[in-house]
Amino acid sequence: MPQILDGGPVRVRILDGLKPRIQQLVRPPGLAVVLVGEDPASSQYVRNKIKTCAELGFFSERLTPPATSTTEELLEIIGALNRRPDIDAILVQMPLPAHVDTRKVLEAVAPDKDADGFHPVNVGHLVAGRPAPRACTPAGILELLKYYRVPIDGRKAVVVGRSDIVGKPMTLMLLAENATVTICHSRTSNLAEECRRADILVAAVGKPALVTADFIAPGATVIDVGTSRITDAAEAERLGKAEQFARQGSAWVGDVHPLDVRRVAAAYSPVPGGVGPLTIAMLMANTVDLAERHAQSS
Ligand code: NAP
Repeated sequence: MPQILDGGPVRVRILDGLKPRIQQLVRPPGLAVVLVGEDPASSQYVRNKIKTCAELGFFSERLTPPATSTTEELLEIIGALNRRPDIDAILVQMPLPAHVDTRKVLEAVAPDKDADGFHPVNVGHLVAGRPAPRACTPAGILELLKYYRVPIDGRKAVVVGRSDIVGKPMTLMLLAENATVTICHSRTSNLAEECRRADILVAAVGKPALVTADFIAPGATVIDVGTSRITDAAEAERLGKAEQFARQGSAWVGDVHPLDVRRVAAAYSPVPGGVGPLTIAMLMANTVDLAERHAQSS
């Protein structure tokens, strides 16, 4: 049986590591979360983030402008948060309504308050290998690999997906750890063949069970970032999720076929429970980093 890369203990270790640093600060770290509209999934993500802030003793504020807010109105909100000394980090919950200029809003967040590491200045720092807030999901994956002592230096890594929030920053972070990295996407030819070269395969696509046994080299480490909810009982059965489906009426599935990966990989992160718990933990880590930086400069 392959090793299961459980995100739970890694999350605990990350959060425990933050506690003494928070105590050293003269005031609690402050995180503002901007939630535009009332999308139920986004609202749940924000609730989880605020709850973790409370557990760590952060100051947090949730701003909930209506879904009809214009780009200019959101820019004003961000501008006011940028000026507040009690706010160290700002997170704009994605996705924004279609009429809003997402890029403009994200770029309005001051780079030294960029909780998610999405600002082009911070992406530039990542490319240049300088310290800066980092995209939370790939940063969490790196913590997962290190916690379970998966060798990265000199290994072949393949990242499937080239989004700005997962695929691209993941590629850069693995490169910084001296992996030889290939990035694949929807136009890659021979995807399975590319993936089979990987010692470390990261799938960040959003297509349930796209990665089957023929994508995985025997002995590889497979990191499943995808999270898709399936509502078809037969599909759940086919993917070994019948029990979860019977309990919940739906089942969470990653990009990696959950039965195939167990047959071929040496280690894999399950969905749910692998990468998922780490994204919020890294958001908290980014907020503490920024709070420390603000404390030093004030
Ligand atoms: P995204 O922005 O939709 O990007 C998906 C990427 O997958 C794109 O680069 C796309 O290629 C590529 N792709 C699509 N179909 C493909 C195919 N058939 N073969 C190869 N590549 C294909 O998604 P994302 O935001 O990166 O998220 C990816 C998944 O991770 C989603 O399921 C999301 O829910 C999950 N996620 C989970 C967490 C967590 O905390 N657990 C956090 C973030 C995201 P093109 O660029 O060519 O279109």
